[in-house]
Amino acid sequence: MTIVFSRKKKGIISFLFFVIILVQVLNTVSVWTYRRGLVELSDKGNVRLELYINYLQGILGKYESLPELLAIDNNLVRALLSPHEKKRIEILNRYLETINRVSDTLDTYLMNKDGLTIAASNWNEKHPFIGRNFSYRPYFKQAMKGKLGRYFALGTASSKRGYYFAYPVRKSDEILGAVVIKINIDSVEQSWANRDENFLVSDPDGVIFITTNPEWRFKSLKPLEEDVLYRIEESRRYSDAILEPLSEEGRTLWGKVEILNIADEGGKSIKRVMKQSQFMPQAGWNVHILTDTRVLREKVLMVNIMVGTGLSLAYILVLLLLQRNHRLAQLHRVEEEAKRALQDANEQLESRVSDRTQKLTAANKMLRKEVLDRKQTEIKLKRTRKELIHAAKLAVLGQMSAGINHELNQPLAAIRSYTDNGKQFLQKGRLEDAMWNLEQIGELTERMAQIGVQLKLFSRKSSGQIVVVPLHGVIDGALEILKPSLKKEAVELTIDIKPDNLEVRANHVLLQQVLVNLVSNAMQAIEGQQSKKILLEGHALEDKVVIAVHDNGPGVSAEHLHDIFEPFFTTKKSGHGLGLGLTISDRIVRGFGGQIILAQYKEGARFEFTLDRIV
Ligand code: ADP
Repeated sequence: MTIVFSRKKKGIISFLFFVIILVQVLNTVSVWTYRRGLVELSDKGNVRLELYINYLQGILGKYESLPELLAIDNNLVRALLSPHEKKRIEILNRYLETINRVSDTLDTYLMNKDGLTIAASNWNEKHPFIGRNFSYRPYFKQAMKGKLGRYFALGTASSKRGYYFAYPVRKSDEILGAVVIKINIDSVEQSWANRDENFLVSDPDGVIFITTNPEWRFKSLKPLEEDVLYRIEESRRYSDAILEPLSEEGRTLWGKVEILNIADEGGKSIKRVMKQSQFMPQAGWNVHILTDTRVLREKVLMVNIMVGTGLSLAYILVLLLLQRNHRLAQLHRVEEEAKRALQDANEQLESRVSDRTQKLTAANKMLRKEVLDRKQTEIKLKRTRKELIHAAKLAVLGQMSAGINHELNQPLAAIRSYTDNGKQFLQKGRLEDAMWNLEQIGELTERMAQIGVQLKLFSRKSSGQIVVVPLHGVIDGALEILKPSLKKEAVELTIDIKPDNLEVRANHVLLQQVLVNLVSNAMQAIEGQQSKKILLEGHALEDKVVIAVHDNGPGVSAEHLHDIFEPFFTTKKSGHGLGLGLTISDRIVRGFGGQIILAQYKEGARFEFTLDRIV
């Protein structure tokens, strides 16, 4: 916020500074341009003034010597000597009229020494000069002094402006009168009118009598004193003209250029003009040129606009450049910050990555070690399991050994008695009976051999290969092993297989081992029961086969429900059970993709498991 404020403040200060500089520069430029323009204008004005003066001198020079020429005419002398000779005066009038017309003057007339006009070119006009006395006119007075009289005045009779030249008419050294010519001033004005500059001619009192601007006629260049006004009125030089000042006192710039403020367009506006003057000594005229300075003001305005625009553009350009630099610096700063932040983030990331990598490497190592440990444990476990299974087989074998012993002893005793009987029948020649006895012996040995095969199968360490196994065959095999015990215990065994030809995915020997285990457990459970019943069930359920061994024993007590599948858990007397039967059986079934569960019934225990059915 403070930064923004200070930047704003800086901007305002720089703008104010620029405005001050601009004003100063424009002021200097204005003064310089104005001054230079004035110098140029005044140079030009001087040349023009010179030209105008030359022009005026040319005009005056043209008429200047005319009265002198006329004065030497004897007719004029004679007329002055005898003014009452009407005829002579008439001739003179015509003569003067001719001269007047030829020389293009306004009036030409002859005055006697009293100032009375005795002959005039306008003798024939409405208001002829003849008989009028102009002795008060300065030109007459000068002529009477023997000099060339010059004078500008508004004609009292004609009300026409004119410039008078008067020359004395002499007889010997005596001045008899004066011959006067009046020349037209209007043409002098007209030929120099309509220019940018105004020319004017003033008398020694400052009254303008020739001007290219008709409005200024008979005005004074500066306010006139009372006595001067009175004197001019007295001389009737400008008839009844009101001699108003053209402007107040002018002011001089740099000691050489005079500036006047003139009311223009009937006083509606003020015109500022530069006045340059030169004195015409012969005529006693002050010739002025007034040059309008408006053109200078326009020039100053133009230069100001140009310089102002230029400076403003330069200022804006500088501002833009500064702003651009500032933005670039800001951008650079932001980029640097972003770069730094990115670098920081990168470094952080790198350190985090290396940290993680280290941790991961450590975790990896640990995992590898764990995997190795697991593998080793698995190998150990597999070995232990195989050994356990083997041990269990041995245990079953131990259990069976009594039965086998009984089973083998029985046929052996029978064989012995059949042999004895056979011998006696042979001796008696009863061949048929001897044959029957021999057949019995054969059957018995066959049975004994069967028991041997079963034992061989059971004791072998099986690889446990899973194949298609007929359920009936497995059950038959298991019963073959259990038959002696079943018989001994007088167990009522029911086998229920639906359909008959059920086939499952399992291993013949291992599945047989499982069934032997379960039926053995059932037999042990029903020991001491009055009626001993075991149901061996096998039925299809969709793509599975449910196999169950159900007895009518006491069942498993609630407190042992969770322990019976634990290894070495047994409720049997020592020497009667290892507590491995269910554990091993469950492991085997899991190997086939099933699981042994205990289904509680009102009566007895029902162990069941499912296997994949081969359809
Ligand atoms: P063992 O037979 O050597 O005791 P098992 O693992 O086969 O080991 O059995 C564990 C225990 O489960 C038995 O000690 C017994 O308490 C119980 N059990 C197993 N089968 C039955 C059954 N059919 N009825 C009641 N209890 C049983």
